[in-house]
Amino acid sequence: MAKAKLKIGVSSCLLGERVRYNGEHKYNQIVIDLLGDRFEAVPVCPELEMGVPREPVQIVAGNEHLVGVESGKDWTKAMASFNSKKLEEIAQLNLSGFIFKSHSPSCGLRDIPVYNETGLAQVETTAGLFAQVFMKRFPSLPVIDEEALQDKQTREIFIARII
Ligand code: SF4
Repeated sequence: MAKAKLKIGVSSCLLGERVRYNGEHKYNQIVIDLLGDRFEAVPVCPELEMGVPREPVQIVAGNEHLVGVESGKDWTKAMASFNSKKLEEIAQLNLSGFIFKSHSPSCGLRDIPVYNETGLAQVETTAGLFAQVFMKRFPSLPVIDEEALQDKQTREIFIARII
């Protein structure tokens, strides 16, 4: 009997799914090559429930709110509800790691701008809001983003941690 593949969560847009705010994707060949035949991808897009296309969002200071760049709508509550539902589903899947999309206010692992109340000036940086709750819930799971995967040695260390 074939051995079950290890499951890796992946930000959906990296797999070529058209889930970005503008209806586009961020297909990434390095991610696809890493998954190969060895791993099973579990696509996750935390912003999908906001619809496609949707307005872009940014993180605003004061408890890190997720706010629509154009409308100023506060998506924090809706996203928190989606995130907790998604984390429960993920907990059942026995993931071995997660590949996040960099530079996203939801998925980015680091260096995501936090803006002041006007939404115009950056005051600090943080991790994306979904990435934050994911790492809090699964602190021992290896996580990485597609930019870090470009480095061969970093990639091999990530794979070694997964398996
Ligand atoms: S929320 Fe994450 S998975 Fe969804 S489009 Fe943005 S970066 Fe990709």
